[in-house]
Amino acid sequence: MTIRLLAAASLFALAACSAGAEKEAGPTDPMAIHKSLLVLDTHLDTPINFERPGWDFGDRHTHENDLVQLDLPRMADGNLDGGFFAIYTASGPLTPKGYADALAFARHRSDVIDAEIAEHPDVIQPARTPADAERLAKEGRLIAFKSMENSYPLGEDLSLLKEFYDKGVRLAGPVHSVTNQFADSSGDEGKWGGLSPLGEQWVKEMNRLGIVIDLSHSADSTFDDVLTLSKTPVLLSHTSPRWAFDHPRNLDDARIKKLAEKGGAICMSTIYMSPMNLTPERAKLFDEYEHISELSPEKQAELVRQWRELDKTGEMWSTTFDQYMKALLHVIDVAGVDHVCFGADWDGGGGIAGLEDITALPKITERLLAAGYSPADIGKMTGGNVLRILGAAQAAAGK
Ligand SMILES: [Zn+2]
Repeated sequence: MTIRLLAAASLFALAACSAGAEKEAGPTDPMAIHKSLLVLDTHLDTPINFERPGWDFGDRHTHENDLVQLDLPRMADGNLDGGFFAIYTASGPLTPKGYADALAFARHRSDVIDAEIAEHPDVIQPARTPADAERLAKEGRLIAFKSMENSYPLGEDLSLLKEFYDKGVRLAGPVHSVTNQFADSSGDEGKWGGLSPLGEQWVKEMNRLGIVIDLSHSADSTFDDVLTLSKTPVLLSHTSPRWAFDHPRNLDDARIKKLAEKGGAICMSTIYMSPMNLTPERAKLFDEYEHISELSPEKQAELVRQWRELDKTGEMWSTTFDQYMKALLHVIDVAGVDHVCFGADWDGGGGIAGLEDITALPKITERLLAAGYSPADIGKMTGGNVLRILGAAQAAAGK
């Protein structure tokens, strides 16, 4: 711990004492404090699993027996109050057929998310506004926002954005790991130098509808273009700092500062803080995982077994929990507590040793408390900032 953090920690202790003298002190146990906060994650790939035969989101699964990193019981324990369930669509050819296939896939994935959430109305319900989230939290229910990872399924028809807005999408990114019709990706060389002309129209339509723009996976050039063009603050739903590991998928400090100046936030991920150990064996299993809903329960179990076997000889990420915390504290230093949020990339490749699933989230709160951050500041980062940015996008759209 640095001297600065020790000083901050003792200041926090003093502040806590004086506040305690005036009114009843809040919880001091880190788990109790974590449970008292609104905790959202901005990128949940869990819907990949929603159609798995023999699998139910309402059942309790464990990290060891199942690849899924969150489920309703683990959320309801107080680890995670909700988040953005992603309609993730893989990129394909920029052709009418490619677009049509992707659109059918994205519509189906959206319906699957709705159906899964609708099956558990006592536990979780859909949310579309910050007020929805606050109401559900008060009612003791979990919160299901919906997002779109990759706008490729829209093809060249931007009127389809309204269709997905009507389906409840409130956060969407232009591009995934391959440059598409809208924007350059961080995953390849790019071809537009940022946004394409259609991508510029996409930004305007996103602003008009009041959907928050998500710049995770975007190239730096796309980030720069969107930051200039967007009338409302943007999010990066699952992105790590380039300070921790020099990779195009991560964001550099200068851009983190610019993002904060424009009111946006970076939601800290667990990925790309070390080289991705994507061996051919892991790549094969990852591909099977993306289609896990097509596997029988026996084949799913075999995939889990092989995945865990591979973990013994070479985990996908070598990042330690201490390295994660160091990177998180760096991001907070650069951006400020009003511009940080969380998006670990659960069920989409995220998770590191010591932060394997959402049951480890209270450990982050504990470390932030130890580093001197107040529960109020931590609450901004776990949920408040995301709701503020969502509210700003909706207000600017007159909603
Ligand atoms: Zn992603």
